[in-house]
Amino acid sequence: MDFTPVARINLSALRHNLKMACQSAPASQVFAVIKANAYGHGAVVAARALDQAHGFAVARVAEALALRAAGVGKPILVMGGAYDLESIQQAAGQRLTLVIHQFWQLDLLRSMKPASPIGCVIKVDSGMHRLGFAPEEVEEALRQLAALGLAGERPRLMTHLANADDRHDLATGDQLSLFRTLVDRFGAECSLANSAVVMGWPQWQGDWVRPGIMLYGVSPFIGSTGGELGLRPAMNLEARLISVKPYPKGARIGYGGTWECPEAMPVGVAGIGYGDGYPRHARSGTPVLVEGAPVPLIGRVSMDMIALDLRSLPGAKVGDKVTLWGEGLPAERVAESSGTIAYQLFCGVTGRVRREVVEDG
Ligand SMILES: *Cc1c(COP(=O)(O)O)cnc(C)c1O
Repeated sequence: MDFTPVARINLSALRHNLKMACQSAPASQVFAVIKANAYGHGAVVAARALDQAHGFAVARVAEALALRAAGVGKPILVMGGAYDLESIQQAAGQRLTLVIHQFWQLDLLRSMKPASPIGCVIKVDSGMHRLGFAPEEVEEALRQLAALGLAGERPRLMTHLANADDRHDLATGDQLSLFRTLVDRFGAECSLANSAVVMGWPQWQGDWVRPGIMLYGVSPFIGSTGGELGLRPAMNLEARLISVKPYPKGARIGYGGTWECPEAMPVGVAGIGYGDGYPRHARSGTPVLVEGAPVPLIGRVSMDMIALDLRSLPGAKVGDKVTLWGEGLPAERVAESSGTIAYQLFCGVTGRVRREVVEDG
């Protein structure tokens, strides 16, 4: 038996989730967001599984170049844009679409004459105050882009929402209507929809949507799980029990002895820890599945292992399968119990974890 932790990436689940995105935004092109190694799922694996998408979106030019090198030919949107001349040349050579969010990126474009035309999208700061041109700068940015001959037939505008994960947050409506005003004013093609908008604001899809987290089976909304929305987890993170031992009442478990056995009880150790990407801040009580049955994590997470309260599973034994998240245990629940979000859990799975690609059936 192989005791190495494994992340099983389910291609059928990825395809199912993409289909849900397409159905939620039937009039839009779908650009599947596969930045950060497809949220830890493997960018090339995800790009191949998601070949029904119209295109892909990544954060950086290097991520897009790696996809091209792997033979991915579809349109790729680089959401952070390019920061130096070399990457602009590469973007032009590899037919990447660059997001432009500051005037100095337009200066860069001007300082070279790109050999071939580059697709460019102007990013608008509609209220998130991270990247993007302020609403009053958009006209000038579009003018400069047109002067470079890079505005295309219709200008393209995109924005990103700060609070779309909370369906009741009023800031989202403000951001949306400000963006819509600009889109109408410039007759632009537009993109604004992350997963939360794709699933929660059907009237606001825009010309092309940018779903990320929903493709991996996670709910984009606070307080719900992907399963409740009909999504399927694309990653199962699994390990094995490497030890099962009885301890007396009062025994303290793990670093710092933070958890004390309230009675004589069996304690299991699973061979996975923060060195594999399991969150070190997972609290005692965080659910873990042993052969499909939920048991609580106890004590501190170590680099290579975690301890489990096996009182409800007296028959558990070395070699039993331990599921950290995936089918039957939403990553959202583990994230909530660890003070983080499923996005970070997925991105944090380290190279020490074996990756396996599976299909249904
Ligand atoms: C990451 C990202 C997305 C995808 O967001 P999800 O919440 O994962 O759907 C969309 N747009 C931009 C600009 C992003 O950075």
